[in-house]
Amino acid sequence: MKTRSNKKPLRNAALALSATLAALATVGCSTTSHPETPATLGASARTSSLEAVVDQPGPLTVETVIGADWQVPLSGLLNLDHAEAKKAKLTDRDEPVHVAFHAVHHPTRGTFLVDTGVERMLFEKPDEAVIRGFVASVANIDKMKRRTDTKTWLEQQEQPHVAGVFLTHLHLDHITGMRDVPAGTPVFVGPGETSARSIENLFVAPIVNRALENKPPLSVWRFGPDPDGVFDGLVDVFGDQTFWAIHVPGHTAGSTAYIARTKAGPVLLTGDACHTTWGWDHGVEPGSFSSDRKRSASSLERLRRFAAKHPTMEVRLGHQAR
Ligand SMILES: [Zn+2]
Ligand SMILES: [Zn+2]
Repeated sequence: MKTRSNKKPLRNAALALSATLAALATVGCSTTSHPETPATLGASARTSSLEAVVDQPGPLTVETVIGADWQVPLSGLLNLDHAEAKKAKLTDRDEPVHVAFHAVHHPTRGTFLVDTGVERMLFEKPDEAVIRGFVASVANIDKMKRRTDTKTWLEQQEQPHVAGVFLTHLHLDHITGMRDVPAGTPVFVGPGETSARSIENLFVAPIVNRALENKPPLSVWRFGPDPDGVFDGLVDVFGDQTFWAIHVPGHTAGSTAYIARTKAGPVLLTGDACHTTWGWDHGVEPGSFSSDRKRSASSLERLRRFAAKHPTMEVRLGHQAR
């Protein structure tokens, strides 16, 4: 019959397309083709070593710099199907957030950035920014309102040298300012972060590559198993117990949180293990922006439990102030 014979080629084309997309998802689309190498900085550690020192004052300072205000869907930031979210009758809407970086200063090792803030070019010549074109429009980058771009912040510093960038993960809103960080600066990232595959990476990977193009191969944290079984892995970054990387997979495979010991007490930088104040306060994990939501819930729970044991710990979240 006519209708049936017309549908068959269409169905075949649809099957071929879905097979191609499935193949692309498993074969060719990693987050970046930028080379990587195991980090030479940092030694694998255990939670009990961190516990032993975390409440003692330390020599670091942490300045959190808000690069831009932004708005993104709440359903990406929070699992709205979580019982707590339902109880609070949360529904999807545009949620105000910020894009930030943290400047961590170590008295002898120098200044390091955790994530990268926003690139100056994004606001002055958006057609030449690292994030531009189709992906920028899909990601609502035009909704970012600048507060302080990373280049301006660096120009204001007496000592603008950046000794390294410690990424919480490789999502675009965390590498937006990477091109404002001087060429050759080492960049550190969690394991499995670069090799995560998805169809979106067809569009995203060229941007990640562009953001990293004047940087050395990515240094990948060497997390060993935590003998205490609390976290998925820890690294004592400088070997002096002042600054720690903690593997908190789920939002992305290599998601990493950091703890800095300052004079005023420990500061936890969660990255996108938790985007929002409400999510942290109610124990509700991120939503559709995460690649493995179950695992991200587990990582968030571990961080919250750890922070609860150390009430002087200041918590700075991925995209909102507490
Ligand atoms: Zn993210
Ligand atoms: Zn983010």
